[in-house]
Amino acid sequence: MSEALIFEKSRKGRFAVSLPEIGLRKEEIKKFIPPNNLRKKELGLPQVSEPDLVRHFTRLSQINMSIDTNFYPLGSCTMKYNPKINETLANLPHLCELHPYQPLSTTQGILHILYETGKMLEKISGMDKISLQPSAGAHGERTSILMVKAFFEDKKEKRDKILIPDSAHGTNPSSSSLAGFKVVKIKSNSEGEVDLKHLSKNVNEKVACIMLTVPNTLGLFEKNILDIANILHSKGGFVYLDGANLNALTGITKPGDFGVDIMHFNLHKTFSTPHGGGGPGSGPVGVKKALEPYLPIPTIEKNEDGYWLNYQRPKSIGKVRSFYGNVGVVIKAYCYLRILGKEGLRKVSENAILSANYIRKKLEDYYPSPYKEVCMHECVLSAQNKREKGVRTLDIAKRLLDFGIHPPTIYFPHIVGEALMIEPTETESKETLDVFINTLLQIAKEIEENPSLVKEAPHTTPVLRLDEVQANRNPKIKWERE
Ligand SMILES: *Cc1c(COP(=O)(O)O)cnc(C)c1O
Repeated sequence: MSEALIFEKSRKGRFAVSLPEIGLRKEEIKKFIPPNNLRKKELGLPQVSEPDLVRHFTRLSQINMSIDTNFYPLGSCTMKYNPKINETLANLPHLCELHPYQPLSTTQGILHILYETGKMLEKISGMDKISLQPSAGAHGERTSILMVKAFFEDKKEKRDKILIPDSAHGTNPSSSSLAGFKVVKIKSNSEGEVDLKHLSKNVNEKVACIMLTVPNTLGLFEKNILDIANILHSKGGFVYLDGANLNALTGITKPGDFGVDIMHFNLHKTFSTPHGGGGPGSGPVGVKKALEPYLPIPTIEKNEDGYWLNYQRPKSIGKVRSFYGNVGVVIKAYCYLRILGKEGLRKVSENAILSANYIRKKLEDYYPSPYKEVCMHECVLSAQNKREKGVRTLDIAKRLLDFGIHPPTIYFPHIVGEALMIEPTETESKETLDVFINTLLQIAKEIEENPSLVKEAPHTTPVLRLDEVQANRNPKIKWERE
């Protein structure tokens, strides 16, 4: 199988769609478009027939990995299967053809969906108020940090530090420094949780907040979360929760009940939007009362006349995105939450946790877990013991591709050597988990008997082992089988 570039398939005059005439002559167009915006030459789009177009993109999709075709246990990413029905609902014409500039009296339905999704997220998280505006997790982090900053500026307190555990996701330190804060790294203890002594030493009146992921990126619940919150609160600092791992908590516990003041959600991880590849995301933020005045404008409110948009919020950090965020993603989350309900959501998290522990237990004799505790929705194993055979985690990840399995997240969190971070999610059957487990066991056997088979993997994929730096810096988009 080989696939030429769509530009190479192009033949002048072929087309897949016919657009209606625009009804204006060339000279007339010049009246409407300023001369410097007029195109000087042809656009250079590929010209192909409809079957050529369909076959091209169908083939490309077949040589990729995807949730629809492969098990995808990418830790920290919650690559679950998302029900197709929610895509269908979000694409209903009377929803996706709405325009945000329509009069409010004609958009009450969508405002109802947005408002109610916010209310459900409040219930799930124990937060007092939600904004759906941010477009992704990292955007939610930045929005939140700006709110924390506005709070302290308002109180005339000079706080310039944010504490971040060494197991944190890379977006945490980057959102903090983008907002002008100094990042202080907090050590993890031997159990993989925040080292309370090290934390206490670093909490003072200069600290604006701690950014904490719960469960953390080792897949462990911070047992001392109440102490952590007390230490921060006693010096007037906030507890920020990176809610990307909410898939472990829904219906079981609420961040608002364990000391969290502000958080973000990843609708595109937890609540039914596929992600990766640059598709639309949504990173709503939730806050407790103290931070409510700083939420982005507008907030969606309800009174006896219906839903309305509140722009009169003088302390707000302003807008962080056009209109109300990625509404299509919110509609999918709304449908997902309504279909599952409270009981269903609890089951989601319970099954996600059960699956991760099943994998951990079955594999830990061969890929030891550095932390012996029961994990939450993901487990972190290590292939450190494979190094004596000259095999590294990267090789194991590549070998998994030969079996049609997308590799787990590797070399993260950084505090575990040769890490494999596995998040199976609740949507996979026991049979699929067993195939994955048996494949990793077989790879462990191969490493004993024939390590070069693993070191030279993959053997069956469209492109074999790439120079990853060159592939990033100088991508060769034309594909030729080696
Ligand atoms: C995915 C993730 C983020 C960032 O979310 P994006 O939507 O990719 O910006 C932040 N923190 C953690 C722990 C994550 O897993």
